[in-house]
Amino acid sequence: MSSIWDKEIECCADHKKIEAIQLERLKHMVEKAYNNVPFYKKKLDEVGMTPDKVKSLDDLKHIPFTVKDDLRDNYPFGLFAEPMKNVSRIHASSGTTGKPVVAGYTKSDLENWTNAIARIVTAAGVTDEDIAQVSFGYGLFTGGFGLHYGLERVGATMVPMSSGNTQKQIMLMQDFGTTTLIATPSYAMYISEVIEEMELPKSNFRLKYGLFGAEGMSEEMRATLEKRFGALVTTNYGLTEVIGPGVSGECEYKCGQHINEDMFIVEIIDPNTGEVLPYGEKGEVVITTLTKEAMPMLRYRTRDISYLIPEPCSCGRTNYRLANIQGRTDDMLIIKGVNVFPSQIESVILGFPQVSPNYQLIVRRKNMMDNIEVVVELVDGSLLERFAELEQLERVIKERIHSVLGLDVKLRLAEPKSIERTTGKAKRVVDLREKS
Ligand SMILES: [Zn+2]
Repeated sequence: MSSIWDKEIECCADHKKIEAIQLERLKHMVEKAYNNVPFYKKKLDEVGMTPDKVKSLDDLKHIPFTVKDDLRDNYPFGLFAEPMKNVSRIHASSGTTGKPVVAGYTKSDLENWTNAIARIVTAAGVTDEDIAQVSFGYGLFTGGFGLHYGLERVGATMVPMSSGNTQKQIMLMQDFGTTTLIATPSYAMYISEVIEEMELPKSNFRLKYGLFGAEGMSEEMRATLEKRFGALVTTNYGLTEVIGPGVSGECEYKCGQHINEDMFIVEIIDPNTGEVLPYGEKGEVVITTLTKEAMPMLRYRTRDISYLIPEPCSCGRTNYRLANIQGRTDDMLIIKGVNVFPSQIESVILGFPQVSPNYQLIVRRKNMMDNIEVVVELVDGSLLERFAELEQLERVIKERIHSVLGLDVKLRLAEPKSIERTTGKAKRVVDLREKS
């Protein structure tokens, strides 16, 4: 069994002790936001929720939500609660359109971030014996630097490779004896494909752990990656708005992610009513930071969908777990009245060895109706000329998708390697619907 970085916090037998820390820090956080950020003062005044009214953790539900547009409206530094001279670093999201989401960190924020990651990578099995290759981009993106400092703190030998240059990634993995790879699941999959193409023997690699995050990963995708790398694959969670990676991470039991509860309060709400849901019920993840000084975040609506698991884990940790992200409210497609998540289709596709784990969902609108085309790559291109076999395969995949979604989809079996590969986050959904 792997060790535990901070036993006092992660294995606290009495959850009330953690809750007491949370309440004390929440009071401080609300006060700090109220006194230093005009946006929060206005919002809290509007509902009469002045800092002195926070008496219990239950009072959190009276605090208004913060949403992504609030960050955009206050771009770039409007939500900072510290003068710039106290802000040591700035990161930003890779926002595909318009202005990015900006996050600031004081020295103490960076120290807490490092510890948050140290706990997560320790839970994933990494120790000072490991050689960790970070294939996340270093830069404004929180993933690279975030993982780097936490891994360095536990004593791992760092290889700050950054993303891209796949041939070199593979060369270093072999030459340096990389034991831990940090990447997005889709980039990890791409690396494994290239390794296969190069026909490199498994004995050239010493990989033990894959820490794959920054985008969702279905259980089927995990199983495929574990098989290809012969390594334990875990995932972790976080977002730029509240810290970057570091909110939670899986241990070797892979049964939900241990939350850094002394740094974050995670709530699950009904995305339609905003009401807080009981443990075990699926809804939108809402995060409140408890230690962030440069940019406190009160009840941030992440749009990610998951649920909470309060039971202690077999690893010995008692902190509450967040189930792996099931999808995003933005990614949810409504096709003919049926809610569809790309991850559901991914689960089906990965069950077929004849097709690669690369896929795209193309959404179109015709006659006011949305429809979806699933494009998957064949592993063996010659199948495109064997019509009977091709039709047979197409039929069983469509049937399987129908049984999962209750929906007929258009399916296109494409040539091998015809879908663009990515070194960062994959683009799974291509939305061709005209925006009205
Ligand atoms: Zn555990």
